[in-house]
Amino acid sequence: MKHFWIGLALGGALAGAAVAQQAADTVQPEGATATTVAPASPEIAAALAAKDEGRPVEADHWMIAAANPLAVEAGAKVLRAGGSAADAMIAAQLVLGLVEPQSSGLGGGAFLVWYDAATGQMTTLDARETAPLEATPQLFLDAEGQPLQFFDAVVGGRSVGTPGTPALLGAAHARWGKAAWGDLFAPAITLAEEGFEVSPRLAESVAGDAERLGRFETTASYFLPGGAPIQAGQVLTNRPYAETLRLLAEQGADAFYAGDVARDIVQAVRGAEGNPGVLSELDFATYAVKERPPVCADYRSYEVCGMGPPSSGALTLGQILGMLEHSELNALGPKEPEAWRRIGDASRLAFADRGRYMADSDYVPMPTEGLIDPAYLAERAKLLEGDDALPEVAPGTPEWDHAELWGDDQAIEFPSTSHITIVDGEGNVLSMTTTIENAFGSRLMVRGFLLNNELTDFSFATHDEGLPVANRVEPGKRPRSSMAPTIVMRDERPVLAIGSPGGSRIIGYVAQAIIAWADWGMNVQQAVAMGHAVNRFGTFDLEAGTPLEDMLEPLEAMGYQAKVQELNSGLHAIEIGQVLKGGADPRREGIALGE
Ligand code: GLU
Repeated sequence: MKHFWIGLALGGALAGAAVAQQAADTVQPEGATATTVAPASPEIAAALAAKDEGRPVEADHWMIAAANPLAVEAGAKVLRAGGSAADAMIAAQLVLGLVEPQSSGLGGGAFLVWYDAATGQMTTLDARETAPLEATPQLFLDAEGQPLQFFDAVVGGRSVGTPGTPALLGAAHARWGKAAWGDLFAPAITLAEEGFEVSPRLAESVAGDAERLGRFETTASYFLPGGAPIQAGQVLTNRPYAETLRLLAEQGADAFYAGDVARDIVQAVRGAEGNPGVLSELDFATYAVKERPPVCADYRSYEVCGMGPPSSGALTLGQILGMLEHSELNALGPKEPEAWRRIGDASRLAFADRGRYMADSDYVPMPTEGLIDPAYLAERAKLLEGDDALPEVAPGTPEWDHAELWGDDQAIEFPSTSHITIVDGEGNVLSMTTTIENAFGSRLMVRGFLLNNELTDFSFATHDEGLPVANRVEPGKRPRSSMAPTIVMRDERPVLAIGSPGGSRIIGYVAQAIIAWADWGMNVQQAVAMGHAVNRFGTFDLEAGTPLEDMLEPLEAMGYQAKVQELNSGLHAIEIGQVLKGGADPRREGIALGE
């Protein structure tokens, strides 16, 4: 019966009666792992099998890769019908907000990188959440002026910024949409009304967070009905979400920022028991998506482009790769500890600069160009010439037309988030990382979606050794992000689109996947699947259960602290060549699908 239901929902919403019947007959195929939802169509089964076998999914015309098969199917239906990558993203994001609500949705924010096939132009859109106009730099300090404990800050209204995702959907559609706006809401509305099958990952996340989710009545009644966590395979409906979607489908994204929706969010935030926030309707009325100049850095024969401030993603990634340009990583290969020493210390040097210089450049002057200036990075790369771990790592002094001294940042990030990669039939490329920050965000739920806790991406401390921290809270400011939606160019053509969740480890995940693909000759699926080794602030995190565990001893011998642990990326990548090749991270439930 379970599979019959999926067939109905997908068939009605997405794929027509024939697929519905096939899905009705489908049983869990061999090769589907315990962490994947039951496949709804042969295409999804094939995509899951490719992922399990380390093969990319191949297609000639269009492709989408994202974190949940139902969202991918919704986007694929749009692309199949000739919709643009922006249209497909909207359909996929709206479904993700339902089936992967812990990671992204209407209550969050996102960064979008777009390559336009007709003009050859790259555009980046910043739909980051903003700090309330009533917020002060002391937002995350207690009465004694001490930084709050992370979860004391997260849970409740204090951490909620003005959501940017609904405005981004509107802005992307206005620029690049071909399909009718309202039609893009149909798959998510149908799934929300008729129900969707709870995925193992969602069920596990709910069970692991039951205490916090249980603190707010609306949230608890949805995720913990009758006090018990929702179960994998259970069919869940979300009527308030369907109603919100109908409103936006009919009235446009602006309806989110005025009237009842904004009022309800403000009420939930200000009324959050124990930890209220200061968001107001004025914050909604003044919210705007900002177009920013793309940040591009050279790496060998490639140009690696992405999201500039307020994200640290493209700058830190560009710094790491720019320093590694001076290392022969392809000669070393992934089995050489020396390769990881260079990658690890390049990353540490980049993170030192990130901590000091990177924040919302609308509020603090930033040496954006200086940070990825090849001459500066060549100088910094000289620090990689020894044999052992750098005993100490300090920020550098990039070229800057502005004399200002910042203290080092103290923001904490924990992973959730989702990445969507799409190439449409006209060759437009979209790379978007979308988030509500922590898993389940602030845990506040309004009208069927969760509100973000993005403001905890600010530094809690306002000063460091007497110097102001660039990423401190200020009214209207956007918290520094690590999200790194990326499009890699070669000879002015896009060749790879990639991104991942993972908090500040995102930068390492994306850097490593690009190195694996560009220097180590891995295909795009192998590149996203390979074990991770990430070093941000000194400690090497080595992914448990992968060959990278073997690096523990040699890296310790070089002087690193090293730790074997779970590393939860969610890389989704598409290689763009004669054919399209898609890769989906085996650590998550997503797939790549194309035709
Ligand atoms: N809030 C984080 C950021 O913007 C992303 C969180 C995550 O990836 O888990 O960098």
